[in-house]
Amino acid sequence: MLLACHDCGGIHRVVPGSAHGSFACATCGRTLFRNKGRGIEHALALNLAALVLFGVANIFPIMSMSLGGQTQAASLAGSVVALYRNQMPGLALLVFLVAIGVPLVRIIGMIFVLGQVLAGGRSRLRAPVFRIVWKLHPWAMTEVYLLGLVVAWVKLRDLATIEPGLGILALALLIVIMLWAESVLEPGEVWERIGPQVREPDSGSEVFGFLCCHGCGLLVPQTEAEHVCPRCQGALHPRKPDSLARTWALLIAAAILYIPANVMPVMTVTSLGRGEPDTILSGVKAMIALGMWPVAILVLFASIVVPCLKLIGLVYLLLSVQCGSTRRRRDRTILYRVIEGVGRWSMVDIFMISILVALVELGEVATIQPGQGAVAFAGVVVLTMLASASFDPRLIWNIEESGRESSASTRT
Ligand SMILES: [Zn+2]
Ligand SMILES: [Zn+2]
Repeated sequence: MLLACHDCGGIHRVVPGSAHGSFACATCGRTLFRNKGRGIEHALALNLAALVLFGVANIFPIMSMSLGGQTQAASLAGSVVALYRNQMPGLALLVFLVAIGVPLVRIIGMIFVLGQVLAGGRSRLRAPVFRIVWKLHPWAMTEVYLLGLVVAWVKLRDLATIEPGLGILALALLIVIMLWAESVLEPGEVWERIGPQVREPDSGSEVFGFLCCHGCGLLVPQTEAEHVCPRCQGALHPRKPDSLARTWALLIAAAILYIPANVMPVMTVTSLGRGEPDTILSGVKAMIALGMWPVAILVLFASIVVPCLKLIGLVYLLLSVQCGSTRRRRDRTILYRVIEGVGRWSMVDIFMISILVALVELGEVATIQPGQGAVAFAGVVVLTMLASASFDPRLIWNIEESGRESSASTRT
């Protein structure tokens, strides 16, 4: 079958055999297709298990804190409610979406699509649902939330007695199951079962006349092409529309927000009447002063280094594309993949704040309140994630002009 590479737009002929192995794009190195055997059945079973664990993680408290004779327990939903009660409705909504809403939608969507495919169902919804489930992937941040919990636990460990709850165990298992489900499933195989490639271009020269859907990878003859993909109903265009202008706009907005995110306090800790606002950097300094080196380095990296490198990296990619550079295309594609993959981990600080706010509500003894800096910082993370999503990596290659079909190299 023919597959178009998501990252460089090159078109490759792949012969899916029975043997285990994967095909990589000969141009940019991205994995095109992995033979997974009974992957769909396994992924369905794992997603059903994930749904149960998701329920457990949401019903039971994730951790509880005892201080000065008072005990406070916090759950996943509790950390959202705590932000809302502290006049942070936007931040509460964001944490709800990425920690609860999107992961749940992904699990249910996956169960629906895989169930339909296996049972031979003909629902018209399976293709758009599968496209959306796949697109939502970076916004399901369960594993980042767990890391935020660990950071919060380390910060509170010396001040109070912290007891882990059943919720945190379910959350950790949920992450393992979801990673497992992801590793056994080849999306290309699901797409083939939903709707196989109707007409294959048979010679290299004919490939010119085909548009590749960025949602499902279907190759649509340009003459027949309307504005939507016949398989997944996604918008169909040669490249993401206005990719450069959109990415620039989002990047500039993120760079402006980066200033208040670092200058304004992200939270205020009040203990026995004395309160002190903390910015991201002063929080890191305080952790270093207390000897919490690993966590301090983690927060410094996730909250300061990663957003900065993302901004610089994307500006470099944009400028190099606009200059029509043909140098180091493969390295630039790898840089793009790193930027796309690493961005969500910056949410660690926001999750840590949400759990601290929910746990430390002990009136006179101690309270922690979120600050406006946290809102600005969350804005930076969301905007840079949208920026990397709106950048079209195929612009680095612009293979369409030199359009050719090459054979994929096989990896086993
Ligand atoms: Zn490629
Ligand atoms: Zn499509």
